[in-house]
Amino acid sequence: MPETTPQSMTIGIPRAMSYYNYFPFWYGFFEDLGIKVVISDKTTKQTMSQGAALVVSETCLPIKVYVGHILNLLDKGVDKIFVPSIQSIDHKIYNCSKIRGLPDLIRNVVKKDFTIIEATLDKSEKNQGLYQFLKESVKPFGITDEKRIRTASKAGWKVMNNFKIMLNSGIPFEKALANAKKGQVVILNNQKSYPISVAVLAHSYNLFDDRISMKIFEKLEKLDVKAYTAEQLSIEQLSEGISALDSKLYWANEYEMTGGAGHYLQDNNIDGIITINAFGCGPDSIMVERISRAARKFNKPVLNLSVDEQTGEAGFITRIEAFTDMLFRKKRANIINKINIEDKSSSEKVSENIEITKK
Ligand code: SF4
Repeated sequence: MPETTPQSMTIGIPRAMSYYNYFPFWYGFFEDLGIKVVISDKTTKQTMSQGAALVVSETCLPIKVYVGHILNLLDKGVDKIFVPSIQSIDHKIYNCSKIRGLPDLIRNVVKKDFTIIEATLDKSEKNQGLYQFLKESVKPFGITDEKRIRTASKAGWKVMNNFKIMLNSGIPFEKALANAKKGQVVILNNQKSYPISVAVLAHSYNLFDDRISMKIFEKLEKLDVKAYTAEQLSIEQLSEGISALDSKLYWANEYEMTGGAGHYLQDNNIDGIITINAFGCGPDSIMVERISRAARKFNKPVLNLSVDEQTGEAGFITRIEAFTDMLFRKKRANIINKINIEDKSSSEKVSENIEITKK
């Protein structure tokens, strides 16, 4: 921890759950107010097992991982940890109960002496918006000046917007974040052409955590497969995607799963869909089932990968290799079929012409 920042002005942020949705904003916001941000280390097997040891075994994997990250921050000596309760992100759009009750869950399972900064975002029941949420977040640091908070909020959005631009251009999550933190915007200009493309759909906290997703993007790149994510789509595209699957937005995470699927299933450049869902996740089981049914209608192959703390990398790779191999063969067969049909129709046209000439 830097010597210049007193412990009282330091906040720990677990590298898990909402970190993967909002961290660039939080970083810009807290740093602008002179609050030093300390992030937990990347997820390891130990993070998972330490977290899993404190909760009941049926708990979903991301929550176990989150608990592990809290322990990691405590090991680093941080005594104020940001554990927001993100209840509802828009009118009648809710997070699952585990995300909503995260501060209570942490308080009950991590029996150590530290302060939980538990600001609440609830746009449905309490009509409590972002500004209220930000005020609550910095109150424990003695910051109440509204003007300062609004200025810091602008700084947060700046980092967030730059990060989004880079992520959308295909720059990996952590690289985009590192650039955004330095105030840099680097755009990826990848001209490489790929024989097949897939959409990889999962909650951001599963997708961009390399331990949970087993570095799926690197693996697909090695297999010469172009990967797209829901994070590269606009809110309008995601909303249209949800309607395309005759679905209604209820869960906050439906944008990244159902919305992304609805969009990419209609996209002719996408050859298949890969979903990554966490063992023990109720909303995922409903969304993945809905995506699988819709994919049959659109005649697009889907690979559903379910992960828990026991998931081994070897089995994961084998399934991805088998799936992408099938996509290659399917595409090749379609192309050969198309050539044959074109050849046949051109020879039929020739024979039609001959007949006409004969007459
Ligand atoms: S949405 Fe699913 S994976 Fe995410 S916290 Fe809730 S139960 Fe766990």
